Amino acid sequence: MPAFDALRVTSSWAGYYEMNTFDHNGLVGAVAPYDNLCTACGFSGHGLQQAPATGKGLAELIATGAYHTLDLSPLRVDRVAEGKPLREANII
Ligand SMILES: Cc1cc2nc3c(=O)[nH]c(=O)nc-3n(C[C@H](O)[C@H](O)[C@H](O)COP(=O)(O)OP(=O)(O)OC[C@H]3O[C@@H](n4cnc5c(N)ncnc54)[C@H](O)[C@@H]3O)c2cc1C
Repeated sequence: MPAFDALRVTSSWAGYYEMNTFDHNGLVGAVAPYDNLCTACGFSGHGLQQAPATGKGLAELIATGAYHTLDLSPLRVDRVAEGKPLREANII
């Protein structure tokens, strides 16, 4: 396609994944050793679909000290230090 030689990039866009290289899953909840420092990050390209449940769950945790609607404890941050990855097969 010789015409492509004349094409020039005039603008670009990049979407950076926020990556959790441990197991590519969200890290949600308290960050030890602090019980008043919470995080919701590391969703690695599938966080949008989990955002409503994550927001609700984290709000419950902060407000009441526990999850009520959904148990999000499998996404707890401690699993990294424990060396227990939470693998998700149905994502890229
Ligand atoms: C190309 C692409 C495609 C995707 N496709 C899908 C999909 O199909 N389905 C799906 O479920 N998910 C998808 N995702 C993933 C999803 O978008 C993310 O998992 C989700 O947006 C993460 O939400 P977040 O709030 O954790 O982080 P973010 O949305 O990244 O929000 C972090 C915010 O913090 C701000 N910030 C950063 N540093 C600072 C600082 N120092 N001070 C103040 N603010 C700061 C940033 O500006 C940003 O607004 C995709 C992501 C990308 C990049």
